[in-house]
Amino acid sequence: MGAHPVTGEKVTIDKMRTAVVTGAAGFLGSHLTDRLLAEGYRVIGIDNFLTGSRANVEHLQGEAKFELLVQDVTQYLDIEGPVDIVFHFASPASPVDYLELPIQTLKVGSLGTYRALGLAKAKRARFLLASTSECYGDPLVHPQSEDYWGNVNPIGPRGVYDEAKRFAEALTMAYHRVHGVHTHIARIFNTYGPRMRLRDGRVVPAFISQALTGKPLTVFGDGSQTRSFCYVSDLIEGIYRLACSDYHEPINLGNPVELTIREFAELIRRLTGSSSTILYEPLPVDDPKQRRPDITRARRILGWEPKVDLETGLRWTVDWFKARLKMTTE
Ligand code: NAD
Ligand code: UDP
Repeated sequence: MGAHPVTGEKVTIDKMRTAVVTGAAGFLGSHLTDRLLAEGYRVIGIDNFLTGSRANVEHLQGEAKFELLVQDVTQYLDIEGPVDIVFHFASPASPVDYLELPIQTLKVGSLGTYRALGLAKAKRARFLLASTSECYGDPLVHPQSEDYWGNVNPIGPRGVYDEAKRFAEALTMAYHRVHGVHTHIARIFNTYGPRMRLRDGRVVPAFISQALTGKPLTVFGDGSQTRSFCYVSDLIEGIYRLACSDYHEPINLGNPVELTIREFAELIRRLTGSSSTILYEPLPVDDPKQRRPDITRARRILGWEPKVDLETGLRWTVDWFKARLKMTTE
């Protein structure tokens, strides 16, 4: 039995709350689903497996409170019965994915957000958008706080993701202002952990799988660009607290410990005990040079900050990737 995040009421089987999670078969969506089920929610997941996989929710087979609808969220969403909250997480999220799927990325950020907001409005449900630090583009302000409007190239290759998410934020605020939908916007910074695809192209799975298989670590550019990495359980705690809050403006969720990609490559080599070399490759177009969240707002409004330090989170993630690699070679 859990407490309902909005009212604090105890949630029981006969008074069950329902959450819709778009992108439920993805990395974050599946962890969020686990958390909501643990809190006593019934969860209706929606996913078309564009970048996610059934394997991420396989452990929920036979779970009476979970249902997965295999559907594209850019199409009309017809859900029977009451819904209390809609979490909109569907979208390619790895730069490699959204460069390969530019139109789908634009559609899920625009039409998909429109459908998900429409569902929340029709059901008088809350709505939470998984937005992104990419809204800040290649930032000229450092660290990034929520009042910075960003530096995005709208027509560059990353623009398909950045502008779709910026549109999604604008649409979310419009539904809040015009229709009174109770909305939340989480600007998520680089998050990592188990269930990322081995080959999704993001730096954490890329370096770990390269290190574990003795291949060179592919550092893009000279590796002086910075990122800050948040472990998935911390991120999900922030998302849950935000969903419980009455706050409507965007909130950064991420880990403020910043390091260069070269330092990150060294760290992965040390943690895996790998003797992989480093291979320098060209820096992708518009790759942000620096990124670190200012989490003052999340601390103040949600009483939230990350708890898992980078080395601990990476050790857990490396162990998970080791098991995956073993399964794929068996
Ligand atoms: P992911 O690729 O693992 O998950 C996305 C899921 O959405 C996949 O299961 C995919 O199949 C599904 N999907 C995509 N388009 C769809 C559509 N049209 N209809 C139905 N399902 C669709 O990515 P993730 O890392 O779990 O990211 C989840 C969300 O969080 C995304 O919205 C992403 O923009 C946001 N986000 C993630 C990070 C991060 O570091 N992981 C950072 C910032 C923002
Ligand atoms: N990166 C890298 N090698 C890789 C993958 C990524 O050097 O194999 C770099 C990438 O150029 C970026 C950083 O690592 O500067 C983080 O990339 P990721 O794709 O994880 O996400 P981003 O933060 O760019 O959205």
